[in-house]
Amino acid sequence: MESLMSAYGRLPVSMVRGEGAKLWDESGKAYLDALSGISVTALGHANPALTAALTEQAQRLVHVSNLYNIPEQQALGDALCRIAAMEKAFFCNSGAEANEAAIKIARLHGHKKNIDTPTIIVSTTAFHGRTLGTIAATGNQKIQKGFGPTMPGFVDVPFNDADAIEQLAQSRSDIVAVLLEPIQGEGGINVAEDGYLAAVRNICDQHGWLLMFDEIQCGMGRSGNWFEHQNHNVQADVMSVAKALGNGIPIGACLARGAAADLIQPGTHGTTFGGNPFACRAGLTVINEIESNNLLGRVTELSTRINEGLHSRLHNRPGVVEIRGKGLMIGIELEQPCAALVGKALDAGLLINVTAEKVVRILPPYILSNEQADELADTLSTLIIEHIEST
Ligand SMILES: *Cc1c(COP(=O)(O)O)cnc(C)c1O
Repeated sequence: MESLMSAYGRLPVSMVRGEGAKLWDESGKAYLDALSGISVTALGHANPALTAALTEQAQRLVHVSNLYNIPEQQALGDALCRIAAMEKAFFCNSGAEANEAAIKIARLHGHKKNIDTPTIIVSTTAFHGRTLGTIAATGNQKIQKGFGPTMPGFVDVPFNDADAIEQLAQSRSDIVAVLLEPIQGEGGINVAEDGYLAAVRNICDQHGWLLMFDEIQCGMGRSGNWFEHQNHNVQADVMSVAKALGNGIPIGACLARGAAADLIQPGTHGTTFGGNPFACRAGLTVINEIESNNLLGRVTELSTRINEGLHSRLHNRPGVVEIRGKGLMIGIELEQPCAALVGKALDAGLLINVTAEKVVRILPPYILSNEQADELADTLSTLIIEHIEST
């Protein structure tokens, strides 16, 4: 690792092969992957349909540039707009870039209204990426630390607090948009409460602001619906997706509807790689596989099964604060910091993650078998109980 910058605190393991929900390391040890590369490999590893599609695409055409029409990009734009009830798509290579496009759209929207310092409301516990723009789009000082001067144009409010947004509407005239994750991932699996997104939608409508959802982690089926905001019956003007969209092939998209969909014009935004035939073929195959195998229904089934397993062992247990989440995005908040659980789970052959210091996070793939779902709930509960008892 000497030639790599120390950006990551890595676990001492090297994965060399995957199949479905399983991974194998160099020594041949098997792991149940309950993290999916952080919400990415929703269809599992070495998914046969994806492998076949990508092989065919690689043999035919990988990249041409956005100087030309790209049929695969058009088809994926159509598919995403259909499942998200959006009108137009801009393709890029990551989640942070999708949010950058959203932020640029919000600023264009503000300047069109002659607002010189367009400002976006974000959440104190948000995570929107690691670019200079997206680290400014959070109130989380840890993410910003060391990288000042912070890009201006954001103001943060507590999550699930519509009154705080209403107050800003009364006190400021430079707000142009609200950017929210319908379920906060890195912030600790914080689910938007019933009525919150609708209340924010209402405030946005009253003031001519754009409502922008970051569905990068909770979208693409993870919540049991294509997108979490659909579970709330609230439509955004702009939405960012990435992570599971390519099942591991880097791709992101910013979707928009109404006037927001027409703000990006030739020369105002762009990317070399974004929306290339290879990445778009991955996205098309992912959508097609989720639909043809009814995986949205399966996510809900698996969620019920895993939650029953977790609740039967952990609910109301001393040391456990709450089990929460939606679909296959599940967080178990403990009373004490629990980062050490990640290594213990690794030893036990289970891949999990801890976020916001005290929240055990699982983001399993949609293709788990019932046996794997039971194994996950059982192993994880045992590890958590042992951990609580040893601290
Ligand atoms: C992962 C994530 C991002 C950033 O995506 P990258 O592909 O890492 O740039 C943004 N928003 C949310 C909600 C995420 O989970």
